[in-house]
Amino acid sequence: MENSLNAYLADGKLFSKLSDITRIVDPLQKSVVEYRNKETDINEIHCFDFWGKNKVCDNCISMRAYNDNTTYVKIEYNKEKTYLVTAIPYTFDNRRLVVEIIKDITNSLFFDSLGDKDNELTGVHALIDNMNRLAFSDPLTGLYNRRYIIEKLPVDLLNSALLSEEISIIMTDIDHFKAVNDNYGHLAGDQTLKNVARTLSGCVKRGSDWVARYGGEEFLICMPGADLETAKSAAECMRKAIERSIIEYDGNKFNITSSFGIYNLKQPGRESVDELIKHADEKLYLAKSNGRNRVEF
Ligand code: GH3
Ligand code: MG
Ligand code: MG
Repeated sequence: MENSLNAYLADGKLFSKLSDITRIVDPLQKSVVEYRNKETDINEIHCFDFWGKNKVCDNCISMRAYNDNTTYVKIEYNKEKTYLVTAIPYTFDNRRLVVEIIKDITNSLFFDSLGDKDNELTGVHALIDNMNRLAFSDPLTGLYNRRYIIEKLPVDLLNSALLSEEISIIMTDIDHFKAVNDNYGHLAGDQTLKNVARTLSGCVKRGSDWVARYGGEEFLICMPGADLETAKSAAECMRKAIERSIIEYDGNKFNITSSFGIYNLKQPGRESVDELIKHADEKLYLAKSNGRNRVEF
């Protein structure tokens, strides 16, 4: 038994069964460093091209594996197939990379053989999307969560540096939010957070920009490629829209304001994500000390 298993392992048959595609990726650059594909030779520019969604994966487990130095798994699909993806951190020549083991599980998923295949596939895809969404969204507001910030901001920052583009970060914090909870109750406070989330998202017009809940009643807006003027007008749009909107909860009507801090980085390259957030935070606290309901930069 042991001998035959050894022989089986030696000729690589078992290992070839473990994965259909193996690739080494740089999750910060979103590039494929090395590719092993049993079926075809795919030459993708970005690692996410494989999934055919024309954008960086929201639930990027390779970035997570890279950050946490831990292995992660997820299920993902492209037009043709469904895959189990395992992302394993890997250091080579002092370069931190991630090995992705991608296994076709299309035929391992449960289907109701009597049903309509197209509908079932739509259902399976919706299920996978929902599962992945849990990882990167804030359950209360539906915005991106803190984890998304940790995983996406370094990518956008590096990308801006590579493209020699500026990048702007807006931080906002609701003014006297504690009073909303105290006066109208925590559920009204939750309703307020949902309203603010919707208002902020409504002011985001550029495809590259994204809004996340940083924590509590603080939100972060990332604007890759945006100069200070563009970020200022986005923040002003948000500030005014929040000031104008009336929140209704349980028979009460009230309105709130929010303070904004902007940090614009003209030449990305040296600053870390933490520094970026720290600078935007400093401007936000300047907006608070200068009287709230204002934008500082
Ligand atoms: P400032 O203008 O200085 O920002 O004052 P503030 O009252 O907004 O700030 P403070 O930090 O004192 O209060 C924030 C409050 O936000 C305290 C906390 O209970 C509340 N909060 C945080 N997360 C949630 C949440 O998910 N739901 C609700 N309802 N309240 C929350
Ligand atoms: Mg506050
Ligand atoms: Mg706060």
